[in-house]
Amino acid sequence: MTTEVFCNDKLAKEYIDNVFATLKAKNAHQLEFLQAVEEIFISLVPVFAQNPAYIQHNILSRIVEPDRIVSFRVAWQDDKNQVQVNRGFRVQYNNVIGPYKGGLRFHPTVNESIMKFLAFEQIFKNALTGQPIGGGKGGSDFNPKGKSDAEIMRFCQAFMTELYRYIGPDVDVPAGDIGVGAREVGYLWGQYKRIRGAYEAGVLTGKKPGYGGSLARKEATGYGLVYFVSEMLQEANQSFLNKTVVVSGSGNVAIYAIEKAQHFGAKVVACSDSAGYIYDPEGINLKVVKEIKELKGDRISTYLKYRPNAEYHEGCTGIWTIPCDIALPCATQNEINGESARKLISNGTKVVAEGANMPSDLEAINEFLAADILFGPGKAANAGGVAVSALEMAQNSGRNYWSFQEVDEKLHRIMKSIYAESKEAAEKYGYSGNLVVGSNIAGFIKVAEGMLAEGVY
Ligand code: NDP
Repeated sequence: MTTEVFCNDKLAKEYIDNVFATLKAKNAHQLEFLQAVEEIFISLVPVFAQNPAYIQHNILSRIVEPDRIVSFRVAWQDDKNQVQVNRGFRVQYNNVIGPYKGGLRFHPTVNESIMKFLAFEQIFKNALTGQPIGGGKGGSDFNPKGKSDAEIMRFCQAFMTELYRYIGPDVDVPAGDIGVGAREVGYLWGQYKRIRGAYEAGVLTGKKPGYGGSLARKEATGYGLVYFVSEMLQEANQSFLNKTVVVSGSGNVAIYAIEKAQHFGAKVVACSDSAGYIYDPEGINLKVVKEIKELKGDRISTYLKYRPNAEYHEGCTGIWTIPCDIALPCATQNEINGESARKLISNGTKVVAEGANMPSDLEAINEFLAADILFGPGKAANAGGVAVSALEMAQNSGRNYWSFQEVDEKLHRIMKSIYAESKEAAEKYGYSGNLVVGSNIAGFIKVAEGMLAEGVY
């Protein structure tokens, strides 16, 4: 028995290493993409060892190759009548479980590697939600910062004038992400509706409530993250009550993570933007943060005008030197490296859970796991946003609206179930307590089984 398992493990590892080596050779310059794939592949050895059919059907080589990637020119006119050109993307990765689903990111760092890493992660995250949604992602290297409202509208219209050919309520359903909120989704939706000449509300999620949007979608990722962490804490007979929390970012995910953590009795002492972070030892005043970020679109440094006793520090990594019980990275990828992870651990942090996508690099994750930190990976912990997007699609299909409470309760149930499935998968495959391995395996198996059922195509 032992020898057999050993042989299977060896075979599985060889297979996975070979697929990764080929992938690396083909995509050598796509570092973020390779990082995301490697994190998942490491978790899958026991799964392939126990399911030789996955090797026979070469599931891994098939799953890492997107169904298709669309890249297109977006030409638009700025307020000075100058023509600007950006690059748009849509990665349709896998639609075994449902229509491709994943947000649009408008940020100057957007490139094919970032799009592919996000879309790849999205496949397994979406599978974990238990909702009928496949994996995709899109965006543009357009920088919305400093643009007028009219420029944002013209850009969104130009972007959709090309994107509309590839999406549809049963084909591919984009949503927001960094740089794309309800305003941008509104402009994108308006243009899609005009071009199609039909009211296909389910083609985009993250719309404002009142014209097809779901109540609680805005809050869903942040609230979902805190619901997930509550499950982790409960396992250790703990709760948010009186815990000190640090949250990076001050965008959509961060703001609603802070709101729910405060609601559960935690003291959130810091948050940030891409220029620096604020530390308010008395506890962040969320009303002020919302006014600065949601209403004025200003820098987080202006928090000091309202709360002179708080501190502002330039730069993003310093936030991880603040002592806290719980750290919630909610800004962007690779914001916690090995050094920051070691600082958090030495300062006594007990829980780290990812609101952003891939905010911890591989070295940081390994540090957390080695130190027995309760670690909630983004794929599971931030899945609440896309889960409620799927609920928005369901409401659009049924042409009805659910109350805030109804959606919030469903979100809460989904997050509990994601936690339970990830924990069980980790236990079943011999990695008890490791939610990275557990969530990767639980999401992967759902997609792999669907691929086996569909046959080779
Ligand atoms: P937003 O655009 O609303 O906010 C992003 C925030 O992160 C802003 O405060 C931004 O600052 C800050 N930021 C950006 N880069 C850095 C950096 N290098 N260091 C520190 N702060 C930085 O985006 P979201 O809140 O929607 O998304 C945040 C993360 O969560 C992303 O990784 C996204 O993919 C992920 N996510 C989002 C979901 C959603 O429903 N929105 C769902 C699941 C995951 P500034 O204001 O200066 O730009």
